[in-house]
Amino acid sequence: MREAAIIVAAGRGSRMGGGIPKQWRDLAGQPVLAHAVDALRAAGLSRVVLVLHPEDLTRADIPPGCILVATTGPERADSVQAGLAALKGEAPETVYIHDGARPFPGAAMIDRLRQALLRGPGAAPALAVTDSLWRGRDGEVSGTERRDGLFRAQTPQAFRYEAICAAHAGHPGGATDDVQVARDAGLTIAIVDGDEDNLKLTWPEDFARARRILKGRDMDIRMGNGFDVHAFTEGDHVWLCGVRLPHDKALLGHSDADVGMHALTDAIYGALAEGDIGTHFPPSDPQWKGAESHIFLRHAMERVAARGYKLANCDVTLMCERPKIGPHQLAMRQALAAIMGVDVAQISVKATTTEKLGFTGREEGIASQATALLVRA
Ligand code: MG
Repeated sequence: MREAAIIVAAGRGSRMGGGIPKQWRDLAGQPVLAHAVDALRAAGLSRVVLVLHPEDLTRADIPPGCILVATTGPERADSVQAGLAALKGEAPETVYIHDGARPFPGAAMIDRLRQALLRGPGAAPALAVTDSLWRGRDGEVSGTERRDGLFRAQTPQAFRYEAICAAHAGHPGGATDDVQVARDAGLTIAIVDGDEDNLKLTWPEDFARARRILKGRDMDIRMGNGFDVHAFTEGDHVWLCGVRLPHDKALLGHSDADVGMHALTDAIYGALAEGDIGTHFPPSDPQWKGAESHIFLRHAMERVAARGYKLANCDVTLMCERPKIGPHQLAMRQALAAIMGVDVAQISVKATTTEKLGFTGREEGIASQATALLVRA
């Protein structure tokens, strides 16, 4: 089926403040209107007509690849008719008429409209009213209204092209939307389920909600894992996750050999795809000989911030028969939290033996593995 979309974006409304019509206001780096164009294209509507105010035809931020038309009058219907006229030559079978102040017409909703158009001349998305409805006067409730059968109308409103052209041509004017024009012409319009995210940006708080919707979609998360082993040598204490524990052996390593902190640091570098501790602090470089491990961990966290992320949580597992970790778990979480500048609740430290199997079971050394999850800050 040959389909086209018309986005009506000629309004001058700037209730949102800033003096800029809402369809041209910036939302996450592009105009609200450009989000609408992207969403319709993502739903398979590649042919998009933009009906603009004549003053806007030379704007630099007009979404590319659209058919541009200037509106011919002050009414919404004037804009729609200009858009319909622009499609005359290609005569699409169906047309989806959308409001440029609605940036998120979802693909599933468009598909519901598409299905409905197989059965009738028109269809429009709407959401049933679920809140109670009141009338109010002077800040007081002056009456209540029944909400049964009431819907909140959305766009795009979708029609057989020839049918809506004829409806508009014969309409005397004054309609609030194309569904009214179509109904006045005797067309039956099906209601399909709308979408709560398909909001119309009208007030400043709508804009904040639009940004939240986008943020939820663009969830940017990165995970990494780290693994490390250090052998035991002679000594009387070990450093594990930033805590000094008395022990009858020490861990061998070019720094303080904090195997837990090393695994965690590598997990963070791994999440960033920035190598490992050795990449940033080459063991061949004498200046890092004996360096305390918190230097590495702090550096990894600096890289997290520099890349625009923050730590969501991390989980460290120490593998050894001895020393016993349990009594020190909280101190380790607190030590790591202080180094990393995060809340202790974001850090887990736990331990396991390997049932006396392998090198950890024979108490030749300690192994550790860690996982870190980063989210866009
Ligand atoms: Mg190590």
